[in-house]
Amino acid sequence: MATHRTKMLIIGSGPAGYSAAIYAARAMLEPIVVQGLQPGGQLTITTDVENYPGFRDVVQGPWLMEEMKAQAEHVGTRMMWDTIVSVDLENGPPYKAIGDSGDEYIGDTLVICTGAQAKWLGVPGEQELGGKGVSACATCDGFFYRGKKVAVIGGGNTAVEEALYLTNHSDNVTLIHRRDELRAEKILQDRLLKHPKISTLWNKTVKRFEAGEDGALHHLVLEDTVTGESSTLEVDGAFVAIGHAPATELFKGKLAMDDSGYLDVEPGTPKTALPGVFAAGDVTDHVYRQAVTAAGMGCMAALDGERFLATMEQATAEPETEAAE
Ligand code: NDP
Repeated sequence: MATHRTKMLIIGSGPAGYSAAIYAARAMLEPIVVQGLQPGGQLTITTDVENYPGFRDVVQGPWLMEEMKAQAEHVGTRMMWDTIVSVDLENGPPYKAIGDSGDEYIGDTLVICTGAQAKWLGVPGEQELGGKGVSACATCDGFFYRGKKVAVIGGGNTAVEEALYLTNHSDNVTLIHRRDELRAEKILQDRLLKHPKISTLWNKTVKRFEAGEDGALHHLVLEDTVTGESSTLEVDGAFVAIGHAPATELFKGKLAMDDSGYLDVEPGTPKTALPGVFAAGDVTDHVYRQAVTAAGMGCMAALDGERFLATMEQATAEPETEAAE
C-alpha cells in the first residue's frame, strides 16, 4: 500500500476530470486522476458523438475519452487505476482519500468529478437495445431519429424537456408517464401539452423493449397502472428520462448537496464550501449535463485550484519575508 501526494487530486475520469487534469498538469501541479469504476465516464457507454466541438465528422464516445486521457497523460498527469472508497475532508487541506487498492491519496486541492448516471427502468430489452433505439439522452442521440417516431418515458422536467427537444427532429413524439399528472414545472407542462407534435400516454409503465428483425428497437410493451391492461407502442427510439443519480455517496455528511444529491457549489464557480475543494461536471450540474459543459467546468476547477494554491503559498511566504526584512 502506497501513499501518493499531489497538489491536485482529481476523483473521476469523465470530460470534467480529464480537462481539470490537462489544465492542472500544464500549470505544473502534477495532478493525479483516480479513474474510478468506469474510466472515461458516461461517454464510454455512448456511441456516436456529434456535438463535441472540434470534430467535423462523428466520433465515437470511447475514442474521445481515450484521446482526452492520452492528452492528460501526455502533459504530465498520473493516472491511477483505482476507485476512491473514502475521503477525509475534515482535516484539510491537504485532503486525504483512500482507494479500493488500499493506497492513500493526499491532495493539497481536491477536484470532484465523479459524475452522474442515468437511472434506468431495469426492464427486459432496455440494456440490450442500448444504442439500438434505447437511450437516456435526447440531446446526445435525438438527432439520429430525424423524421422517426420516438417516445420519452418519465414525467419530470428532464422528460418534458427531452420530449420538447425531440420535436426538433421528429413530428411524432409520445411522452409515457406512470401517473396522470406530471411532476415537471407548470410552464414546461403547458408547453408540452400544447405542442402539436407531442402526444401523451398516461398511467402507463414500460414492461419491455422489444426488437424487430433488424435487431433494433421496434416497439414497447406497456401496462396500464390503473387497469393492468397491456398494449404496445411502435417506436424507432425510446428515451428513458426518469432522473439521474449523481455519484456523491462518498461525500454525504461531508459536503453540502441538494435534495437529489448534486453537490452545492458557489453559483457560477466550481467552488464548494470547503477551501480547495471543487466540484465539476455532472456531479454538480443537473441542468446542462453535456460533455462540453463538464469539460469547461473541469477547466474552471483547475484554474481556481491553481489560484487557491498560489494564495496559500503567498500566505505562508509573507510572514517569512517580513521577518527577513
Ligand atoms: P425527477 O426525479 O424530477 O423526475 C423523474 C420522473 O421519472 C418522475 O416523473 C417519476 O415519476 C418518473 N419515474 C421515476 N422512476 C420511474 C420508474 N421506475 N418508472 C417510470 N417512471 C419513473 O427527475 P428529472 O431528471 O426530471 O429532474 C431531476 C432534477 O433536475 C429535478 O430537480 C428537476 O427539477 C431538475 N431539472 C431541472 C431542469 C431545468 O431547470 N431546466 C431540467 C431538468 C431537470 P413520478 O412523477 O410518478 O415520481
